[in-house]
This record gives sequence, structure tokens and C-alpha cells, in this order.
Amino acid sequence: MTTLTSTIPTTTGPSRQVRRSRARVAARTLASATPPVENRRLTQVILDGAATKAAAAAQATTLAKAQLAEAEVQAWLKDMDARLEVIFAHPEQNLGEIEEQLARSVQEPLRLLAQRAAQVKANAVLCECPECHGLLTEQRWLSRTIHSRFGPLTIWRRYGFCPRCGAWHFPADYALGLGRKAPASPYVQEISALLVSKMPVEQAVLVAERLGLDLSRCGMHQEAHRQGLKAQEWRAQFVGQLATWDQIQQLATAQAPTQPFTLVIEIDAWDIRERTDWGQTKQLRAQGKKPERWHWVYMATVFRLDHRGQTAGNRAVITQRGYAVTRLGIEALSAQLYREALDRGLGQAQLVLVIADGALWIWNLAKDRFPGARQELDLFHAEEHLWAVAHELYGKGTPEAQAWVGPLLQQIREDQTVAVISALSELKPRLLEAQQKKLQTQIEYFEHNTQRMKYKEVLDARKACEEGNATEEQKQLANRPVGSGAIESACRQYQCRFKRTGQFWTTAGDEALMCLETLWRNGRWHELYPHAKPSVALN
Ligand SMILES: [Zn+2]
Repeated sequence: MTTLTSTIPTTTGPSRQVRRSRARVAARTLASATPPVENRRLTQVILDGAATKAAAAAQATTLAKAQLAEAEVQAWLKDMDARLEVIFAHPEQNLGEIEEQLARSVQEPLRLLAQRAAQVKANAVLCECPECHGLLTEQRWLSRTIHSRFGPLTIWRRYGFCPRCGAWHFPADYALGLGRKAPASPYVQEISALLVSKMPVEQAVLVAERLGLDLSRCGMHQEAHRQGLKAQEWRAQFVGQLATWDQIQQLATAQAPTQPFTLVIEIDAWDIRERTDWGQTKQLRAQGKKPERWHWVYMATVFRLDHRGQTAGNRAVITQRGYAVTRLGIEALSAQLYREALDRGLGQAQLVLVIADGALWIWNLAKDRFPGARQELDLFHAEEHLWAVAHELYGKGTPEAQAWVGPLLQQIREDQTVAVISALSELKPRLLEAQQKKLQTQIEYFEHNTQRMKYKEVLDARKACEEGNATEEQKQLANRPVGSGAIESACRQYQCRFKRTGQFWTTAGDEALMCLETLWRNGRWHELYPHAKPSVALN
């Protein structure tokens, strides 16, 4: 019976240093013993490789037209026939198999065409500095392989050195829309950005695979992040157009005058989990600090009231709306929102309506950016605050709570907030100290928001519409929202992506992807991906 002891390293065996040195000696001995024949063979392989490369480069760099050779077309047709034959021989295979197999069969010819077309484009690019347009010196050719919609493409590009800028440039890369080091074509860049901003990267990779894109999890994740940074750059420029008063005036008056309309702005925030303090928990606790995991994402939406309608199923839809979303603080939100509002008609709106819950930062932002706007407290938040008092006094879900709160809810809907406040104040002396404190908080909430609680005319208008005796003015009014449902549903939609179980983000990571998502929702995707514009070929 054999034992395993001989294979287990022991302290009495040679040390690692000794073993390495022996291995080096062995390698040298082997090298000197390699017959000259083998050496010559290796040299030939290297030389052949270089010659093949040089030939490929020569062929590529003189290419002036993207086309398939007759033999390639024939090979493709033969392959397609063979695939279809198999499908026809199998009665159980349906149109799905036909679609799948045809797509696969056309992949290689398309890859070749894409590679050659990209090459033609690269060949036509002047070898000049993209920054200062000076001619590049020390020009050479170098190939690069990138992931494309049709598979890997190898493209040869001329490059050179700009003495004025002191940098090497590949002008063809700019012309082709390729990142400096990133291995993705513009379409792959776009799809990575789109999928990863909509779903976790593990799922995105699988979906991409079904769409015929062979991308790694890591590659896709990195590409999406790069695209997010690009989106942030674009956004910074867009918001930067607010730098001077003249520019703001220009943007405000850019649109043609239309029928009078109301511009609605809704603002809210939700929290996202980040691992900013990851691994520092102990250290922070020792300093008496609490590690922060949750951070605010600030959000706003802006739309014209006349762009809000109803589907056949009575569901409210807004046909055109803008979003501003950021993890970078209230100031950042404020600037993004203002820029978006200008684009959506802030300069022409007859009435600007800001609706939100009672958070103080929101009203400060509204006062600062939209000083002439009408401020409105979300009716349902106001009602919730009354329900909180009812539950505190009479217990959750009790008929007493219901009976107590009923008349007060009615008073809120009739703009009698002052009466509600005095009813709450009268309760105070009868309560315990802890309850008194809670009640005081609620009283202050209503006191701060009294001027924002004017719902009666809208609710009356809606009633009149139902009863069929509404005036023209009431028909208009009935459409005005009394709640901030539009922003709340938007928050929930973002949370479906960014607030999943077990998800942790970094500020750089979540901001980049949220920026992409917002660009998509704002209908500005083509700003980053001009090829994604449906009419791109016609422009
Ligand atoms: Zn230059």
C-alpha cells in the first residue's frame, strides 16, 4: 500500500528558494540542449507571423470599398442553405428556428462587411491632431480589435505624434467613435449602457447573449460605467448652459409661443444604500461615529399639464416629461431641474405649480429657483399626517380613529386648515407629555404648510365635471393634480433598479447609471448615441 507522505512538502525538504534556483538551472540546460533545428523553426514562425500581419495591414490600409468577395458570398449562401435544410427536415422546428439560424448564418458576412466598412472609413481619415489639427509626425499603422454588433472586428489605424500637443493620436478612432482604450463599438457601448442601466449586470449579460452579443460580465459592467461617465459629462455641459443670465433668457424664450399652459414640477427624495464606509465600521464606531450606508437620491419631474392625459383604461399618462435625478446633493438637483424646466416651457408657462410632501429643502429649492410658482402640499401626505394623530389617539384601524379623523379630512379638503390646527391644539391639554410632543410636531407641520393647502377649487371643479355642470374654467381646473403621484411613481421605478435586495453602490457607480437612465427617460439618448436616432441615415 502506498502512502501519500512523499508528496507532502516537509520542512526537511529543499526550501522554495532552492527549488526555484534548481528550476532555473534546469531551464538553462534545456535551452542550451535545444537543437538548432527547433530554433530555426521558431524563428520562421515569428517571421511568417510578421509577414502575414504586414500583408494584412497592406491589404487593409489600401481598402477603398467595403464588399464581399464572390467566394465569401457563395460560402454564406451554402451555409444558409445547409441550415435551412436541417429546419425543413424537422417538422417540429418553427419560425423561431428559422429566425435564429438565418441570424447566425448572416453574422459572418456582416462581420466582414462591418470590418471592411470601418477600415474604409479609417483609411479616409486625415492623420492630423484632433485637438489642434496639426499634421501628426512619425506616422505608423497599428491594428485594434473591438467588440461589435457582429462580433470582433480588427481595424488598422494610422497614428502619429503631435509635437504641438505633445501627444500620440489615433485620428481614425475618433472618427469611428471608439473610446481610447475601451474595446467596444458605439453600438456595443450603447447596448451595454442601456441594459446595465435597466437591470443588474448578471441579467444584462444573459439578455445581451440572447440578442447575439457575446460580452463578459466584467466588460459590460466597465463599459456601462464608462458610458455613465460620458453621460455625466454631457449633462454637465447641458446644465452649464445656465452659466450666464443671457443664456438663461435665450433658453427661456427659445420655444414658440403656445396656448396658455400650466407647468407642473414635482420633487421628492429616496435613499440608496452605498458601501462608502465599507470596512471602516469598527474604526468609525471607535471614533463615536455611525457608519453611513444610506444616502439621499434627489429627484424631480417636470411636465406640462396639457401633456397629461388618460389611456382608454382610465390610467393617467404623461406624454412628454423631464426628469432630474442625482446623488450629488440638492444644489445639483436644483440646477438639473431648472435646466430641464426651461426646456419644457418654464419661460412660457402661465402658471408654475410645485407639488411635494412637506420636506423643507423642497420649498427652499422652489423659492430659490421658481419664486413665482404656486406651492402645493401633496394632499395625501397631509391626510397621512392626520391619520398618524388618529392612530396615536385611538389606535390603528379602530372605528374611533376613523370617526375622529373623518371630519378633519373633510376640513382639509375644504381649505379649512386653520380649523384643523385649532382642533388639534385643543386636544393637547388632555394628553400625556410624550403624546403632546408628537401632536405638536403635527400641528407645526400644518402651520408651516397652511398656505400650500388649497385643494377646494380643484376638488369642486372635479365634482362639477362629474355632475356635468362644470364651467370652462372648472374643466381646466379639474385636471390640475392635488398629489405628487407622478414623482412618487418615478421614484418607485428608479428603485426597481437601484434598490434591490442585497445591492450596494458607490456614489460614482450609482450616479453614472442613474444619469444614463435619466438621459434615456428624457428622450435625449441620441445626444450620446447619434446612431440611435431613427432617422440617422437621412441626416
Ligand atoms: Zn495637437
